[in-house]
Amino acid sequence: MYMSNNGRVKVVIESCILLIALVIVSCLYTAELSKSRNVLKEENKNGVVHEEKKQSKTVKNALFDKDDYKAEGFKNITVVVDAGHGGKDEGARSNNRRYREKDCNLAMVKKLKQMLDQTDINVIYTRLEDRYITKKRRTVIANMKKADLFISIHCNASDNIHSRASGIETLYAKRKGDNRLMTNRRFAHILLDTVEASSLNKARKCIRREDLFVLRHTDMPAVIVETGYMSNRKDMSYINSQKGQYDIADGIYKGIIKSLKEMSRRKKRG
Ligand SMILES: [Zn+2]
Repeated sequence: MYMSNNGRVKVVIESCILLIALVIVSCLYTAELSKSRNVLKEENKNGVVHEEKKQSKTVKNALFDKDDYKAEGFKNITVVVDAGHGGKDEGARSNNRRYREKDCNLAMVKKLKQMLDQTDINVIYTRLEDRYITKKRRTVIANMKKADLFISIHCNASDNIHSRASGIETLYAKRKGDNRLMTNRRFAHILLDTVEASSLNKARKCIRREDLFVLRHTDMPAVIVETGYMSNRKDMSYINSQKGQYDIADGIYKGIIKSLKEMSRRKKRG
């Protein structure tokens, strides 16, 4: 093939234009690529954050899921939940003296509140902070509000630090609060069963006690739940753990619902 000088110049110019165009296209492509990489990085970053959030949600849900505690049909029901001790009244202590009963009781009541908040039950808490309240005041609150049920939450301890006593106890009195819908004894048995079923602590016993103020002076079915022994190392570490506290709260929640359902059935029957 033959070309004139003019023709060669034309080819050179054309080649130059082509080359410049190529460089521009390649620059644009590189810029676009790096932009999309950045987007990808950003997405990854978000993805990680999202994943972390999802994980923490999963961890939380493993101990507490709102959906497990939806219960309705109790609009006219009032339940008093009493966290034992508080303020200057510390209650029992763990053997190593590090843990106080008043704190464990409150921690469980706060978890129980998360569960009862999902229902339409009118719940009255005698305390939701570290506050001293007399036993009399606790019963006056329950009686004034004409509560249907009264539940006092405690942890046990043996005076003898060598004692191997462990497990859940529920306490009731026979002479007050019994009514045709629910006896104190039945209420205490229900709580013993449901707390055992939900927790790793074993059921120890259901005990009749006529000498305890809150059981003696409440006008409605009343129970004291001793959730475990602070003097027992295994019970103590369970009571003090998030899982243990959620499990026990779950058992108390189920005991309340079961009792209310029984009461409602009896009421319908007349
Ligand atoms: Zn106590």
